[in-house]
Amino acid sequence: MAYKRQTDRLPIIPADAQEFNVVCRYCIVGCGYKAYTWPINKQGGPAPHENKFGVDLGRQQDIETEAWYAPSMYNIVKQNGRDVHLVVKPDSNCVVNSGLGSIRGARMAENRPSRITGSQQQRLTDPLVWRNGTWQPTSWDDALDLVARVTARVITEGSEDDLVVSMFDHGGSAGGYENTWGTGKLYFGAMKVKNARIHNLTCSP
Ligand code: SF4
Repeated sequence: MAYKRQTDRLPIIPADAQEFNVVCRYCIVGCGYKAYTWPINKQGGPAPHENKFGVDLGRQQDIETEAWYAPSMYNIVKQNGRDVHLVVKPDSNCVVNSGLGSIRGARMAENRPSRITGSQQQRLTDPLVWRNGTWQPTSWDDALDLVARVTARVITEGSEDDLVVSMFDHGGSAGGYENTWGTGKLYFGAMKVKNARIHNLTCSP
């Protein structure tokens, strides 16, 4: 995969990198990860006092070593308006995953939007409405008007029990916030729907 990403080498996490405890954004298992960020113009070194792992990276590491990360766990993102290196790697001290990462969680860093590395440039910036056989960007006013009119039609021709919404509810960190805050406010705060069907596992339909 490193070859496919055109990744030649990855920076060593410096000893003074910022460290955060994060939860995987994708499913309700809630695996624990560590996120590290540090300024774009810095990197650590192989000596124990120069890197976040506190080990001599100039030597062959044990087979179970935590002192590594994969290209999928790396990106360059904005933090407080500045470009920073980002590593998100499984937390070996988390009782849920004990340092293991799934094919989704272990890609959280590369799945961040980045103008430097070009990842996730296709992120949504406008609501999409299915019109004429394709998803088309539209305004929030138009999208909410459509929701209101469909909802009113369902309720007036049937009842509130006929109204069912489908949403996905991937908990955890940014995923939970980005994916469910808006739908939660709309469906449960404003519309007060009684019936919802959620998708919340990696393998659920
Ligand atoms: S998607 Fe994978 S890494 Fe993320 S919480 Fe679920 S099992 Fe853990």
